[in-house]
Amino acid sequence: MELDDHAEDLASDLGVDKEEVIDDLQNLVEYSVPVDEAKQSLRRKYGDGSSGGGGVPSAKDIAEITPDDGNVTVTGVVLTAGERSIRYQGSDHVIVEGRLADETGVIDYTAWEDFGLEPGDTITAGNAGVREWDGDPELNLGESTSLSFEDDELAVPYEVGGDARLADLETGDRAVTIEVTVLECERKTIDGRDGETDILSGVVGDESGRLPFTNWEPAPEIEDGGTVRIENAYVQEFRGVPEVNISEFSTVTALDRAIDVGSNTSTMAIGDAVATGGIYDVEIVGNLLAVRDGSGLIQRCPECYRVIQKGQCRTHGDVDGIDDLRVKAILDDGTGTVTVVLDDELTERVYDGTLEDALAQAREAMDQSVVADRIRERIVGREYRVRGHLSVDEYGANLDAERFAESDDDPVARATAVLEEVDA
Ligand SMILES: [Zn+2]
Repeated sequence: MELDDHAEDLASDLGVDKEEVIDDLQNLVEYSVPVDEAKQSLRRKYGDGSSGGGGVPSAKDIAEITPDDGNVTVTGVVLTAGERSIRYQGSDHVIVEGRLADETGVIDYTAWEDFGLEPGDTITAGNAGVREWDGDPELNLGESTSLSFEDDELAVPYEVGGDARLADLETGDRAVTIEVTVLECERKTIDGRDGETDILSGVVGDESGRLPFTNWEPAPEIEDGGTVRIENAYVQEFRGVPEVNISEFSTVTALDRAIDVGSNTSTMAIGDAVATGGIYDVEIVGNLLAVRDGSGLIQRCPECYRVIQKGQCRTHGDVDGIDDLRVKAILDDGTGTVTVVLDDELTERVYDGTLEDALAQAREAMDQSVVADRIRERIVGREYRVRGHLSVDEYGANLDAERFAESDDDPVARATAVLEEVDA
């Protein structure tokens, strides 16, 4: 939107002349005040006057809220409310984050004051701030918000509570409840914001898949392994995939039931998987189009373990490289492509030989590209089912394979798998 349009908007909202607000707006923007903030401050300026308009913003349905709204008044049901500690301007603040719903939709909120919000409460938030996060509007409930609890419960078509499956979790999710098995767990000492501190990190799994986690205040139930219920966890991105964060405000309880990890892991279309921005545990099926350069027999820097060319590391210069095997292959299913990366063990399998065999073959040919050539002959043009960690960055999508197997061509087996999915 042009500044002129913003001014027109504002003027009609406030019931004042456009010429009155445009100079003010121009001024603020010239002082590098973001335009949304400038509009808010003008709303306050004109709203306080006698020119009419302004004041408490009118009530809005959640589905109608856009990031362009400065302030809104909303009535809705608190679906989730999770405490979290953040460091802001040098001191720790406890904030509450969650989701609010009405009949029309759901919106994320952050409460900067302790309003005592609990899941299931029907509230009216007067003069709630709206900010943009990743293109979507979010509510800020703060000092200037007048919050009241309604006696009449609002019926909403959304479930109260944060119960979630791992496969459905996304970066930015707050106040989630999961029931998982601890698959890997390791105690680490880190240099935290208050000095050295111990944390737990590892991998949890449920029927839908697996995700890495960090437990910032080690919970014995997690360290003991087994199956646990975790309430009020949040999800943050770490190295390109969502990670479950379990804080001092999370509740961890041991569970008696067994969880069959990964039994419902679904195979995704490559295009859908890439669109998520990164998944820790995903299975895809596609045709292997090509084996990329830098595959087969390669050399790594002994210092940083990155792949080197002609004995030269970009960081460490002239080094004595370590021989290794890997494959970077392009897999395509018609909806998208990923680069599948096979480690040394998987590469030995598709090469059908060991590192020593590869070195011997390269010596004999006096050319190490013969190793990649043999891999190419064996895998290009075939269909593979691959499971592993997907990360997406500006250079494209990479899938670090944990499993790499030729796709099952047996039509009976495939039909059964489809039927099982329908049953589930
Ligand atoms: Zn290096």
